[in-house]
Amino acid sequence: MMLSVVVPCYNEEKVIEMTCGELLKNLKEITDDFEIIFVNDGSSDKTIYILKALAESDGRIKYISFSRNFGKEAAMLAGLKFSSGEYTVIMDADLQHPPELIAEMLNYAQSGYDQVIARRNRKGDSAGNTFFAKMYYRIVNRLTDVELIDGVGDFRMLSRKAVDALLSLDEYNRFSKGLFSWIGFKEKIINYENRQRAAGKTKWNFRALLRYGIDGVLSFNNKPLRYCFVLGAIAMGISFGYLIWLLLSIAFEGIDQPGYFTTIFTISLFGGIQLISIGVIGEYIGRIYYEVKHRPHFLVDETNFKENHQRGRRRIRRPRQCSDDIEE
Ligand code: UDP
Ligand code: MG
Repeated sequence: MMLSVVVPCYNEEKVIEMTCGELLKNLKEITDDFEIIFVNDGSSDKTIYILKALAESDGRIKYISFSRNFGKEAAMLAGLKFSSGEYTVIMDADLQHPPELIAEMLNYAQSGYDQVIARRNRKGDSAGNTFFAKMYYRIVNRLTDVELIDGVGDFRMLSRKAVDALLSLDEYNRFSKGLFSWIGFKEKIINYENRQRAAGKTKWNFRALLRYGIDGVLSFNNKPLRYCFVLGAIAMGISFGYLIWLLLSIAFEGIDQPGYFTTIFTISLFGGIQLISIGVIGEYIGRIYYEVKHRPHFLVDETNFKENHQRGRRRIRRPRQCSDDIEE
């Protein structure tokens, strides 16, 4: 198989047929050796029926349907696990990612780039969104080790090497923007004009975006924990200074009236710092909790793939034998 295209779909009944048509039109011009993998992420509309009908009409169209909504990260992961192409494209179902770019991406990929990344500009986005996005990227890039670039999303072509690398990262909390950047390899960025969704509505609201944003900061390293430590150290330094100043003024001027303001101020300042720090620690513990459960990222309800097609299945780790056992 030369080319796989992975398309996560969640309630996309209005647009999915159009997307499939556009994809087929573009892919046929490139090669005949391709597959389109639609991942139905627990849609509650008619998406799955449309996908089944599409799969009937063309054998190169595959679908994987989840038992419920597991999120776009899980859907992309499933697509990658089932894909067998030498090159794999990930794209949205709403035609915001223009399929016309695939030909150009393939050219770069074949000339040796492992990740060909499509980058959109922010034309047509609201000024508020653009502003928050810019701020967000600035903060995230300061707080994490991996570099995230504004306008770069999940739309990209990956070589087999890059796909296998992604599949080897089997963490439960997946933040793919970070994972793509973490695996490295040779990257090429191509630019395209921003597009609005062809039909249907976006699945994002402010709360989801905020959650996603926090995930991005926390899922990559422990710098936030270190910042809590620094904050605590600064607060402690200031309070020591204040304490010495108080002692000196008592020594030279005698005991003054106890300060109501300073007491309340100190209690609330330290209370705040402690709560924030505990919150950050809690976030990490929550993540550890999910990691150690080792639950699968998704459950497949139905698919037209043959069984055991999935790649990168988790290897069962057996406990290492200790030396005593071997001697026996
Ligand atoms: N999506 C998904 N599962 C979800 C939410 C979204 O598979 O829980 C898919 C959705 O069908 C689309 C892509 O992720 O193909 C991007 O979603 P959307 O267009 O709503 O996001 P936006 O483009 O507005 O960021
Ligand atoms: Mg979209």
